[in-house]
Amino acid sequence: MLRKLIAGNWKMNTDRAGAVKLARAIADGAAKYSTVDLLVCPPFVNLVPVGEVVKGTKVALGAQNMYHEASGAFTGETSAAMLLDAGCSYVILGHSERRHILKETDADINKKTSAALAAGLIPIVCVGELLAEREAGQTTAVIRHQFEGSLAGVSAEQIEQTVIAYEPVWAIGTGKVATPQQAAEVHADLRKLLVDRYNSGSAEKVRILYGGSVKASNAGELLAQPNIDGALVGGASLNAEDFLGIAATGAAL
Ligand code: PEP
Repeated sequence: MLRKLIAGNWKMNTDRAGAVKLARAIADGAAKYSTVDLLVCPPFVNLVPVGEVVKGTKVALGAQNMYHEASGAFTGETSAAMLLDAGCSYVILGHSERRHILKETDADINKKTSAALAAGLIPIVCVGELLAEREAGQTTAVIRHQFEGSLAGVSAEQIEQTVIAYEPVWAIGTGKVATPQQAAEVHADLRKLLVDRYNSGSAEKVRILYGGSVKASNAGELLAQPNIDGALVGGASLNAEDFLGIAATGAAL
């Protein structure tokens, strides 16, 4: 079994003082969960102060997005090298809010994924279907399409350094969590896509996270499913006790 990764996506929340306080509470509580990996992804402007808090602890630092170019005239953008320099080891790419609100395409996400891997950052590549797509029976096809588009050209060696997050869009921030069976079905499809594209050895090294209204109260059942190797947590990651409750659940499995 892969070590579970519990990742907190703070989105566009927390001011500097709040981010530092939250990071400190998570880092203080995290030490006892030695069997899971923990990650926090604060807003860009709070990466450095949060990085100072989590440095030397078991909590890793990640960003919520990046740009694929290395440097230059790209106003408002942030490169992989800048994220590494700020202390990040992970970057979330293709989150559904970026796909649907900011209109990022699979091709955009693919360029970012390749740039992140080339720079030595671990990308967390998000995929997930809309409610209308699920209701139309298109979930498998949508996930396959996003997988193929977002991960085009990624080698077997690189995929082992990549995390995939399955986040059904209808479950994000809505309180409507996928049933463990619904999540497990898509995770099994993703594992098969990995085996078919690469090989079983590489496929088994890829952590596939579930995201969508994960809380301490529902994490146990989800994380116990085969092929669910952790959680990408939005709302519940903004409260240290809630986030650590999910970590505790993952650590106990
Ligand atoms: C997310 O932002 O990736 C997410 C899953 O949010 P929430 O946990 O609030 O549904």
